[in-house]
Amino acid sequence: MIEHHKDLTSLTTFHVPAVAEQYCKVTTIDEARSVIQIAKEQKKSLKILGGGSNILLTKDLNSLVLHTCIDGMKTEVNTSTTLLTVNAGVEWHSLVSYCVENSLGGIENLALIPGFVGAAPIQNIGAYGVEIADVLESVTLLDLNTLEQYTLSNSECKFGYRDSIFKRSLAGKVLIVSVSLLLTNTNHKINYSYKDVALELELHSINTPTIADVFSAVVSVRKRKLPDPNVLGNAGSFFKNPVIPKTLLEEIQRQFPTIPSYKYDDENVKVAAAFLIENVGMKGYRSNEVGTHIHQPLVLVNYGNGTGGEVLELAHTIIEKVKSTFGITLQTEVNIW
Ligand code: FAD
Ligand code: NAP
Repeated sequence: MIEHHKDLTSLTTFHVPAVAEQYCKVTTIDEARSVIQIAKEQKKSLKILGGGSNILLTKDLNSLVLHTCIDGMKTEVNTSTTLLTVNAGVEWHSLVSYCVENSLGGIENLALIPGFVGAAPIQNIGAYGVEIADVLESVTLLDLNTLEQYTLSNSECKFGYRDSIFKRSLAGKVLIVSVSLLLTNTNHKINYSYKDVALELELHSINTPTIADVFSAVVSVRKRKLPDPNVLGNAGSFFKNPVIPKTLLEEIQRQFPTIPSYKYDDENVKVAAAFLIENVGMKGYRSNEVGTHIHQPLVLVNYGNGTGGEVLELAHTIIEKVKSTFGITLQTEVNIW
């Protein structure tokens, strides 16, 4: 059933106010098809909402918001792997917990990422050295124009660093209805290359961690370091970590020798956006009801009564300061609506 003048404040993790002209929560593919058809007939722009953890609302929406809440999962167990086909409305973290409880390896490093499964391939969600592209077999889609269903393989999704075809040529053209992941039953590939996870395991004297150990370590680190969106509105990292030429890094290192950098490819390196923001004096910065988080300045926060416009203004200030100090233009990771 389509609702009119729907208040979206509690439907995104930034908790900023905005109203949608029309809104519909769908729990089956057939319902999704009907809502897409209605938007087409009414020539209304269609916006797809999942868990709302990667969206900043900056204005009221003259659109039909389709809230993808299609639940359910299919399991196909083989000798050494299990193929899970998971519908778009399943909560990502509950899927990760299910996998760890059932000894399925591959996504334990991606614990506590908010949001739904359907959005996970869009920015190729990643954390602590693992991204969904590492285990994704295929994505099933509904074409918003023809309403036909089709499937893309991993390579067809054109995954990159926080990037995929869904942010490029298919942006705004498809509804992701399910995602298939190939997970290990045994001989799991354990990854604790990130310092915070390694230190957390060391703290508990764990030398040969299991997937459950890595999961618990990631959960502990994240709970300590990142703000809980239920307490402090945010959408995780507001900007991507920039990938820059090595020559620019060398220039920056003359003034900032401690800048963290990581190999990206032969010519480019990834640098920590948090370092850039901290070094333009914006860590823990607050302007009225919005600011940057005290522990992680890459996360912009809403103290309670902030608006999307105020968050966006703060983001522009940060972009300008980082550009003038480092010559790097930060790109937003969060979707601005
Ligand atoms: P939404 O915010 O609802 O939507 C995001 C975009 O995807 C929108 O453009 C929307 O239109 C589109 N979309 C959503 N569902 C569909 C669908 N079914 N079909 C087509 N389009 C769709 N991200 C990481 O990569 N790594 C992290 O470690 C991480 N940590 C986070 C920590 C916190 C505290 C927060 C708040 C966010 C974090 N994020 C992280 C960002 C976010 O959780 C992910 O991007 C997540 O996948 C977004 O899912 P969602 O369902 O909330 O998407
Ligand atoms: P962190 O561990 O303090 O590291 C800072 C940045 O340096 C990270 O963003 C990471 O890049 C990079 N990095 C650190 N160790 C690395 C290594 N061994 N190899 C390659 N790159 C390395 O970061 P954090 O803020 O606490 O976040 C921890 C993880 O959770 C990161 O992977 C981060 O991406 C993820 N996270 C993402 C979001 C989001 O909204 N996108 C929010 C919170 C946390 P990468 O970002 O490429 O990993």
